[in-house]
Amino acid sequence: MSASRIRHSVRTLRAYVPGEQPADPAVLKLNTNENPYPPSPAVQSALAAFDAEALRRYPDPACLRLRRVLADLHGASPEQIFVGNGSDEVLLLCVRAFVERDGRVGYFDPSYSLYPVLAGIEDVRTYPVPLDEDFRWVDPDPRAAALFFVTNPNAPTGMLYPRDRIRDLAAASPGVVVVDEAYGDFADEHCLELALKMDNVLIARTLSKGYSLAGLRLGYAVGPVSLIGPMGKIKDSYNVDRLAQDLALAAVQDQAYLRRRVQQVRATRDRIAAALAARGYSISPSQANFLWVRPPGGDAARIFRELRDRKVLVRHFPGPRTGSHLRITVGTDQEMDRLLNALAAPPP
Ligand code: PMP
Repeated sequence: MSASRIRHSVRTLRAYVPGEQPADPAVLKLNTNENPYPPSPAVQSALAAFDAEALRRYPDPACLRLRRVLADLHGASPEQIFVGNGSDEVLLLCVRAFVERDGRVGYFDPSYSLYPVLAGIEDVRTYPVPLDEDFRWVDPDPRAAALFFVTNPNAPTGMLYPRDRIRDLAAASPGVVVVDEAYGDFADEHCLELALKMDNVLIARTLSKGYSLAGLRLGYAVGPVSLIGPMGKIKDSYNVDRLAQDLALAAVQDQAYLRRRVQQVRATRDRIAAALAARGYSISPSQANFLWVRPPGGDAARIFRELRDRKVLVRHFPGPRTGSHLRITVGTDQEMDRLLNALAAPPP
């Protein structure tokens, strides 16, 4: 039987399910937390200036220019920065580098559904910690996992955890705490200072959300050299291609653009949260570029289908913890008005 040729852990793995990428351009995509605005014009210029001839050569395996710029940005040294092929790669390498065969990967439930998949890929056990009924922080056992992922702001809820709780968890933990700040650009607060001060905290960031570069695949980690160094040992030699390094550099150097776009998304987020609340939705306080909402009556599955029929795609996660909610990515003001109209329309 061919199945027996496949490693047991792979055969039994429940693969990550990415959000749909519909081919129909008429669909309003509010399902994968992409940024509705284009990346900085500096990215377009860097792309125009890119010489295809350069692709003859391998990229810089150490991503040094980019790491220097990121280090300056965060008040760190380049040795404290690891750059990866999207933050998903960064998270996988954390599991690979910090969890022994008999160790566990911890995370809150619900949070980013990739974490248990990464544990499955590496064939290590998990330690899911259920959040309370309002999706608020519950103290994990700090000794239960070799690696604990704290998604902050959390996904799919958008809620920000108090930094002191994360600091206390890390202080009590003999393992590593990775603060996944994929949505940190949209939040009031972040945990960079913990990663710069403590010897067991990393933050993971991405250019996919705030910088509008999900298609580029660029993520990074900041933290102590004692953790960043080992990650460099186990990555693919050329994990970030030449084009990605050049374009990421252009994006990161345009902080004014990032701030302006983030402000726009945050303003739209708050406006739509208020509009939905006025219609009887309960809204989790979001510090991200999406809203986690419970429609009145809680029939989120039906609303998800009705919206899809009207070519508006949001995200519904079936299941006891999440099934009565929808996760809605914040688009432009115009796009969000289309969402509001689609929600108000009588059933088709
Ligand atoms: N962390 C969280 C919480 C996310 O939602 C995502 C995006 N799906 C990622 C990490 C991965 O981002 P990237 O595109 O950099 O791989």
